[in-house]
Amino acid sequence: MPTSRSSLAGLACLLALSACNGGAPSTGGASSNASTSNTAASNAAVPPLPATPWKPAAIAHGGVGSPPDRVDGCRRAVDAALAVLEAGGDPVDAAAAGVVVLEDDPRFNAGTGSRVRIDGKTVQMDASIMDSSGRFAAVAAIEAVKNPVKVARAVLDTPHLLLAGDGATRFARTLGMPPYDPATDEMRAKARALQDQLRRNDPALPERWRKFDWRKHYNFETPILETGLESPSPARSATPGRSTDTVGVAVRTVDGRFAVALSTGGTSITLRGRVGDVPIYGAGLFAGPRGASAATGEGERIIEAALAREVNAWLEQGTSPDDAARRAVDAVVRKKGDIGVIVIGPTTMAAAANLPMAWAGRESGSNAWLGPIPDGGKPPP
Ligand code: ASP
Repeated sequence: MPTSRSSLAGLACLLALSACNGGAPSTGGASSNASTSNTAASNAAVPPLPATPWKPAAIAHGGVGSPPDRVDGCRRAVDAALAVLEAGGDPVDAAAAGVVVLEDDPRFNAGTGSRVRIDGKTVQMDASIMDSSGRFAAVAAIEAVKNPVKVARAVLDTPHLLLAGDGATRFARTLGMPPYDPATDEMRAKARALQDQLRRNDPALPERWRKFDWRKHYNFETPILETGLESPSPARSATPGRSTDTVGVAVRTVDGRFAVALSTGGTSITLRGRVGDVPIYGAGLFAGPRGASAATGEGERIIEAALAREVNAWLEQGTSPDDAARRAVDAVVRKKGDIGVIVIGPTTMAAAANLPMAWAGRESGSNAWLGPIPDGGKPPP
């Protein structure tokens, strides 16, 4: 999400999340040095993967910037994902089932509750899915569907990797998914507040947008005159506020596989057709033999970092999920983007972010939850 960030605040949040990982089982991987890039030397020290059976597990995030007291939604997503694994389901179906829970929860920016664009009407969503055998599929800029991740899951069974725009929406109709408006009143109000900021060229807007002639390039169906964006004396109808971001779920199976899924309503301040990191191969998510990761944050910066593929490379070099998550945050913070990431490996899982983030993880058969503790240390029910 395009927001301003103070590096000190970011560091504080990163440390806070790391502290929340204190209850995580210790990693089986070698610890990493953030500046290490000698792949050959690192690979020589990489321990073999632990023998199966592994402990099935799932981890979910509600987006960087999501209030940690929404951890209940992430826990429900983890429960849904584990239920599929425990029933012997395919890990991609487990990850997708977890994401569906978050898409259906209007507090998160995915599916119902997705961001409304600057025209005050449009919602365009991205979703993706991948497993450690290398299967990948995604949808980009899809509209008028309830669960974009279900469409991405269905793309996995086609000859394609990525369906975009109108074609993705029409593909969803072939699956029997009816037209659905994911916009909520709250997100429409936030879009009005954003329009107000744009009219005023509010200094709180991201620098990139303050400098960009978006009126000249406005490309929505609704004429700009009808949006009120040109109005010189705006009505202040709502308070601008930060919205939560992309949701993601990653899982590991008893027989040594990983899968991961992401879904997002994207960012608010965008031209029509903007696509973020979520459906870009190797950017928002990746799964390999040593683990899986899912990101959230400013998509443009995540794409530039080829972030999830980098995380996968670090895991293959023996970096622990915890260290890989921290390195991922550092990589995007260096580019001045907000960033959150979850990473799961054969024995541990971790999250890191430069802002508060709701997330949760647990192993099958255990009630020991990982994640931020909201409410001054009182665990949620
Ligand atoms: N990464 C998403 C995007 O850029 C949105 C987010 O997580 O903030 O579309």
